[in-house]
Amino acid sequence: MSKPRAIIIGAGYGGMALANILGKAGYRVDVYEKNATAGGRIAAIHKDGYVFDLGPSWYLMPEVFEQYYQLFGESAETRLDLMRFNPGYKVYFEKYPTLTIQGDVDVDKHTFEAIEPGTGRKLERYVAHSTQAYELAVKHFLYNNFLRLRDVFALPVILNAPRMLSLVFTNLDRHVSRVFRDIRLKQLLEYHMVFLGSSPFQAPAIYTLMSHLDYRSGVYYPRRGMLSLVQDMQALGTAYDVEYHYNSPVQQILVEGGKAVGVRLPDGSEVRADIVVSNADMHHTETVLLAPEHQSFPARYWAKRQPGPGALLVSLGVEGTLPDLMHHNLYFVDNWRENFDSIYVDKKVPENSSIYVCNPTKTDPSLAPDGHENLFILMPLPAGVALSDDEQSQLADRAIELFARAIDVPDLAQRITTRHTFGPRDFGSEFNAWQYNAFGGESHLLFQSVIFRTSNQSRKVKNLYYVGAGTVPGIGLPMCLIGAQLTYKKITGNRKAGPLAESDLL
Ligand SMILES: Cc1cc2nc3c(=O)[nH]c(=O)nc-3n(C[C@H](O)[C@H](O)[C@H](O)COP(=O)(O)OP(=O)(O)OC[C@H]3O[C@@H](n4cnc5c(N)ncnc54)[C@H](O)[C@@H]3O)c2cc1C
Repeated sequence: MSKPRAIIIGAGYGGMALANILGKAGYRVDVYEKNATAGGRIAAIHKDGYVFDLGPSWYLMPEVFEQYYQLFGESAETRLDLMRFNPGYKVYFEKYPTLTIQGDVDVDKHTFEAIEPGTGRKLERYVAHSTQAYELAVKHFLYNNFLRLRDVFALPVILNAPRMLSLVFTNLDRHVSRVFRDIRLKQLLEYHMVFLGSSPFQAPAIYTLMSHLDYRSGVYYPRRGMLSLVQDMQALGTAYDVEYHYNSPVQQILVEGGKAVGVRLPDGSEVRADIVVSNADMHHTETVLLAPEHQSFPARYWAKRQPGPGALLVSLGVEGTLPDLMHHNLYFVDNWRENFDSIYVDKKVPENSSIYVCNPTKTDPSLAPDGHENLFILMPLPAGVALSDDEQSQLADRAIELFARAIDVPDLAQRITTRHTFGPRDFGSEFNAWQYNAFGGESHLLFQSVIFRTSNQSRKVKNLYYVGAGTVPGIGLPMCLIGAQLTYKKITGNRKAGPLAESDLL
């Protein structure tokens, strides 16, 4: 019997993850990617002897990667050669001395205590609650398509309902502020929301679970760099003949008799399949690749949704060393709330912005020529703001100036030997990103999370599915791995909650 055929549009991490699952489950899988390489937002460029990452750098939730790899009888820890950062990262402030976060509450509680007496114990309790919320989320929410009432009303969910509801109906900043007063401590417990494409002043307090990752689980890194995640995903797929077609932007999803039957490519050729899954940004898939009558989520739907932020990425080659920096560095501005509000409420490029700075040469010196450092600055921006080349360059200058001051290296700008910027319009042209969003999907607001997030299945077209950061469960690499399993369950009519087992693919 011939294999059922699946087409995946887009070779992002979510698309690749699902391609392998479908391959193992006996599908013939063809992935059509508009760009010349796989990985989507996990990207890098080579310039003047440097390798600059343009995408993710935090490997969080290692058990999610491990569970995914186990579906193939493999171990992520071994194949990706993981290391744990000890300490996890460094934080620079506008007015206060620098802090180092170990990633272990037993150590970090002393840092908290030194800043605000009494908060060492409070941090222990706060993190214990974050761990509870995290475990509940992983066990009952994230791996769940919520297709059965008994999954919605599972006993542990009901038992924890009062506490969970209190976390759902208050925002993260309010939740944190009930316990901690010092602005630095609040920043440490709230900054993650940027990476979930949201603001702690808007997102539900359930995302307190991110503090479990910071103070219990820890920050990991694949020794061969983030791109090795893409290479390894592809290597896993070779056993199942997953085929990648590059420079192949899909122009249209073909629908016949209410069913997706394939895709049309730019040369007009049509490729037929039993199912079509899009890993491209949901807005692009729905409003560009489908005719209006087939759109479950048309333009008017998106007008009411909030995209994750845009971003300016500034890659710098720097002469000499920067001994104070760690692999991960954060710089928090004093006007914390104004910074988030300008991005998510006023939609204006912030005057003064918190930034993330990765210094990967601290871990892998081969990413820069001898005697040089590799820096990567991420400045979040409002979605939908297309910067001109001049604006982008001026903003990059400002980010460099801010960070030079923060790390007390006044000649940083003069030591830059090469520089590359990647801004909102690049996200648009490279990934067909909705409103130039950087992280691949909607903000994690209450009504854009869990059962309220844009579905992984078309409501109007049979055999058409979605996977990746734009759909459930959400933004980030671990979410893409979980989401691939949710989409597979939809495809195969598997209604159960919880992670897949290898036997579900046989
Ligand atoms: C700067 C940055 C930092 C980040 N940091 C982290 C981090 O530290 N940790 C973390 O876990 N996550 C991080 N993220 C988020 C994470 O990278 C993304 O959420 C994730 O990679 C999204 O993957 P995806 O599969 O949903 O989609 P994408 O990676 O966007 O892939 C979609 C693919 O579809 C292709 N495509 C689009 N349209 C078409 C078409 N018409 N035809 C064919 N192909 C098409 C695109 O070219 C792309 O390759 C970061 C993201 C960015 C940009």
